[in-house]
Amino acid sequence: MGVSLGAGVALAQFRGGGGGTPDTARAPASEAPPAPEPTTPPPSPTRAAAQKPEPAPKPTVKPKPKPTATKKKPAAVPQSGKGTFTTASASGRITGASGTLRRYRVQIEEGVDLSARATAEEIEAILAHPRSWAAHGRGRFQLVDANADFVIRIATPDTADALCARQGLDTHGELNCETTEGVVVNLKRWILGSPTFAGPPEQYRHLIINHEVGHEIGIRQHLGCGGPGRPAPAMMQQIKGLDGCRSNAFPYDEDGVYITGPIVS
Ligand SMILES: [Zn+2]
Repeated sequence: MGVSLGAGVALAQFRGGGGGTPDTARAPASEAPPAPEPTTPPPSPTRAAAQKPEPAPKPTVKPKPKPTATKKKPAAVPQSGKGTFTTASASGRITGASGTLRRYRVQIEEGVDLSARATAEEIEAILAHPRSWAAHGRGRFQLVDANADFVIRIATPDTADALCARQGLDTHGELNCETTEGVVVNLKRWILGSPTFAGPPEQYRHLIINHEVGHEIGIRQHLGCGGPGRPAPAMMQQIKGLDGCRSNAFPYDEDGVYITGPIVS
């Protein structure tokens, strides 16, 4: 069943027959379910490399305590919430020119200090990015608030655990997972990013969405690093370690070439 994880990760379940099929139509994973990916892996050499600080600020600039921190200080992440969700109202345009149309809705746990609408627009922009799936003919996507093919939920760690546990998955308050309804994103990952990712959380969110939606469009396997110094594939479980690659949030490079590597699971 769907597990998932980390950079979103998860498993690979996909809906049989393409978009529009009911959630129950998802085919069960044929392979043994992967263990949940740790979102906070132990330190490793690759991790250190991935966390190379940004250039030091000019002397006239006030020193920043965290080199990779974004300008906006992230809010503290609540451990638990109401367990109920607000659906972002939306009637988005279709992104992408070819492939199966998949409609998705975005839900934010009630009480979490995230705007559902703004978050949905952020996810919409991620899926419309020129280095993401839709720009390369891998499907079309449309943000909706009803009759969706799958849902992307952002939930506090406790709620994410509860949702994932329904699938038989133990996510330890740290992991994302994939359920029969769609993707559950741990709020901690959304707000704080990942220790193996060199960029800011805003960029890490591209990896979360690209990886999980990669599973949604039917990519079942995870990939490994394609070679030292190369960008890590979006379908690599980067949070488990980069194996010599550079962290990367996008399926395709700037020239439109798919970033790949050996199949690892
Ligand atoms: Zn995965």
